[in-house]
Amino acid sequence: MRRFVSAAPGTKQVVDRFIAGETVDQVVPIVEDAVGKGLEVTLDVVGEDITTVEQSHAARDAYLELIDRLKDLGFGEKAEMSVKLSMFGQALEGGHELALANVRPVVEAAAAIGTTVTLDAEDHTTLDSMFAIHDELRKDFPQTGCVIQAYLFRTEDDARRLAANGSRVRIVKGAYKEPAEVAYQDKAEIDKAYVRILKILMDGEGYPMIGSHDPRLIAITQELARRAGRKLDEYEFQMLYGIRSEEHLRLAAEGHRMRVYTAYGTDWYGYFMRRLAEKPANLLFFGRSILTK
Ligand code: FAD
Repeated sequence: MRRFVSAAPGTKQVVDRFIAGETVDQVVPIVEDAVGKGLEVTLDVVGEDITTVEQSHAARDAYLELIDRLKDLGFGEKAEMSVKLSMFGQALEGGHELALANVRPVVEAAAAIGTTVTLDAEDHTTLDSMFAIHDELRKDFPQTGCVIQAYLFRTEDDARRLAANGSRVRIVKGAYKEPAEVAYQDKAEIDKAYVRILKILMDGEGYPMIGSHDPRLIAITQELARRAGRKLDEYEFQMLYGIRSEEHLRLAAEGHRMRVYTAYGTDWYGYFMRRLAEKPANLLFFGRSILTK
């Protein structure tokens, strides 16, 4: 499947909608453009589920190369990084330690240029390790963020803990196929859980980052922030590059902090397939584009 999708003639055109480029040189002008428009970014070097220790070192080096380029641009926290620990070898034998050892220099380098890193949430089996790495990194770099997923039953408890300890937390609906034993399956149930978690975050001590394109959740966020007495710089919205771009600009123009999750790199397969799965129309469009080429 991976080979077929990657080689299909119409793929590139659809991938380009979601992936900002393949190299640091290609993504830097996109970051400059976004910041020039009043947006902020979180940069993701695409990649996940690596199988060798060397690939973990390569993941570290790819982020360090990016940070080295950002250093000269002086964007500070306007350009932060998102990382997937499975790209740093979390699933390998001894992978928890390996991922921590290779992500730490990235977090350190980010702090040195005045910005930070957020740990993405992957499938539910990886989360205890992710939260433990997050706690460990926060001892030296308290601004390190993490992601929680509204579809998981466990997340309200995670939100309470993170909100009480003053963490930066991105809340998303969740993008992985999870079993009914651990996650809500019904969209309405997920949305209700999202709102309950939003309340916990807004009423807590931390910095909530609202990762969603859902207009209802955006309106609810604004209302909950108002009720919690939060100022516009005490939370932020986040959306994905290529999705509802007009909305990015509208919220920024209203004075909100709007951060665009900007993925780039060559190992885009996993990221791209999750974007296709989120919206049936994307699959139809993709199917048509490979059939008509
Ligand atoms: P939905 O109800 O899915 O979408 C609302 C509307 O947004 C749709 O009607 C459509 O107009 C638009 N839309 C949404 N997705 C698409 C799409 N793919 N293509 C075209 N239009 C679309 N998930 C994780 O599991 N872990 C993470 O670490 C993670 N990080 C994220 C970071 C950010 C900044 C964002 C925005 C999402 C992240 N996600 C992550 C993905 C998230 O879990 C959802 O799968 C995704 O955001 C879709 O949910 P939604 O809240 O936008 O609502």
